[in-house]
Amino acid sequence: MTLTKKHILDWLKACAAEFETQQDYLTDLDREIGDADHGLNMNRGFTKVIEKLPTFEAQPIGGVMKGTGMALMSSIGGASGPLYGTFFIRAATSTANAQELDLAGLLKMLEDGVAGIVMRGKAEPSDKTMCDTWWPALEACKNAVEDRADIGSALTAMVEAAEKGAKATISMQARKGRASYLGERSVGHQDAGATSSLFMIKALSAVVNGG
Ligand code: ADP
Ligand code: MG
Repeated sequence: MTLTKKHILDWLKACAAEFETQQDYLTDLDREIGDADHGLNMNRGFTKVIEKLPTFEAQPIGGVMKGTGMALMSSIGGASGPLYGTFFIRAATSTANAQELDLAGLLKMLEDGVAGIVMRGKAEPSDKTMCDTWWPALEACKNAVEDRADIGSALTAMVEAAEKGAKATISMQARKGRASYLGERSVGHQDAGATSSLFMIKALSAVVNGG
């Protein structure tokens, strides 16, 4: 089984639906240690992606990822706009002409995307950011590639790792972004961006595995 372009398009639609549902929850998380706009940002961003989808959905996976990144970049005002925008634009590099991806191709696409987030935001492990969700998920994906697992079970393992990663941000002190202004007071709250990244990974797994 491969990850097809249809999976990718369904993933973007599932993200849009999820961010509409979770808007208030993500905004509440951001209210605790930020400025209460993360849910709003993600919902606005993915609404724009769906609006723009007809202009790039005929392209290979790379074109779809790039179009998504541009839509997010242009519609999200907060820190997460350039970060998620860069994630998708970088994810377009290795997938430029691809109509489908095997698991190694998915890993490469996501690794490039996360490297883009790090290039932009300079996050390090345990800085309490979206990267603390992505890094363990990438590790699980890498292990799955080495074990020659299928894409469905790889995504299940990635969701499990991402869930742990997002939860682990609760006890971290923020060292990047708005939450870092709070110093020790940022401890005890789950990071909003780590949570939106978890929702994205869950949405991809749901598209592939059903549910
Ligand atoms: P803003 O902080 O501008 O209001 P959002 O609320 O949309 O933007 O996004 C906040 C999220 O962005 C945080 O929860 C965190 O996960 C993520 N973030 C902030 N700064 C960085 C960074 N330098 N690197 C990675 N992620 C970051
Ligand atoms: Mg915010």
